[in-house]
Amino acid sequence: MNDKKVVLNPGREMPIRNNHQWIFSGAIKSTPHYNNGEIMPVYTFEGEMLGHAYFNNDTVIAGRMINFDDTDPLVSLKRNIFRAITLRKNIFKEDTNCYRLINGEGDGISGLVADKYNNVIVLQIVSTGIDKLKEIIVKNIIEGCKEILNEDIGCVYEKSTIHARKKDGLESFEGALYGKLPHTLIVKENNIKFIVDVSNSQKTGLFLDQREMRNLIGSLAKDKKVLNTFSYTGGFSLYAAKEGARKITSVDISEDAIELSKKNFEINGFTSDDNEFITQDAFEFLHDDDLNYDLIILDPPAFAKKKEDVMKAKRGYKDINRTTLRKMPSKSFLLTCSCSYHVPEDLFQKIIMDSALDAKRNVRIIQKHRLGMDHPINIFHSEINYLKSILLYVD
Ligand code: SAH
Repeated sequence: MNDKKVVLNPGREMPIRNNHQWIFSGAIKSTPHYNNGEIMPVYTFEGEMLGHAYFNNDTVIAGRMINFDDTDPLVSLKRNIFRAITLRKNIFKEDTNCYRLINGEGDGISGLVADKYNNVIVLQIVSTGIDKLKEIIVKNIIEGCKEILNEDIGCVYEKSTIHARKKDGLESFEGALYGKLPHTLIVKENNIKFIVDVSNSQKTGLFLDQREMRNLIGSLAKDKKVLNTFSYTGGFSLYAAKEGARKITSVDISEDAIELSKKNFEINGFTSDDNEFITQDAFEFLHDDDLNYDLIILDPPAFAKKKEDVMKAKRGYKDINRTTLRKMPSKSFLLTCSCSYHVPEDLFQKIIMDSALDAKRNVRIIQKHRLGMDHPINIFHSEINYLKSILLYVD
């Protein structure tokens, strides 16, 4: 640790006193000369030490707090990693071995996401500060999994391909940091098996954030005719199959995703010929099909990846929801989702309301999204909630 320090502007220390992890550039009075990613102590204007953060000159979020006291920041980092692992140990049973192990700010480690697929850890690093701590993080995760979960990690793989890295001046990076990535991995979620191909997949492999919604769909699926659009590797479809749906139709634009869904059905022993797998644009499918299903899932990719896309995204959500609501039979269920960070929950609900008005359907909200417990929200830093799902009953 060096003797450099960052001083905040007068009166700008309140968020940090409230354990919020971000320091915006406008809150900073002075910094010494430093290299991006460097960890420095943070002081109020009056000279009180508030904790440590890592800093970046080039970003609006100029600092991200690592701790809120004078403990060695690397000791705090290890403590937070161990705490993250301990939480998951207390949540999951043997029936699930894929989950988010570290959820950024939610686990007090801004800039880092780690997902666990059996004994493979996949890291996603968003900031230069975390990038520089990579080696220590890998070591701490391996140690933590051994000590807390009694598991030997076979591979730590970095898949830092998300767009947000650009803001931090980081290039895309993908590769093994420890061990070797197995070619195929089979994991289980609530005893349902999934094939995970980490390097050729979206996100880190699976959309772990939808686990609770998949469960919800499973709970309603018995004897129903189910349509799963934007189905990816068939997550919702598999839950519906397990719970005895009568017929399941999965639609995705990606042939690879559809092929993987078929394999996922096979390895789970769900072999009914009644199930359909369709490679098609879901917009087209929803317009052409008569949508005679008891339960429909609309879980599209983020239509608004940036702020400027919100108008376009609104049109996209309205299009698929209105079309679907117009044609669904009465007494059916619609699970409709948005993972666009820039479309807040109230706006999404308004889009769904407008779609129902246009479609002239009476609908009631009977459930809303719950993030899985492996996606904790930091009570002191709660704004990171991008995923919205609304379950509607259509009269
Ligand atoms: N529901 C899934 C995750 C969906 S991810 C789960 O629980 O795992 C979004 C999916 O939408 C991706 O698989 C992507 O291939 C697909 N997709 C993107 N654009 C599409 C389009 N226009 N029509 C159909 N599928 C599309």
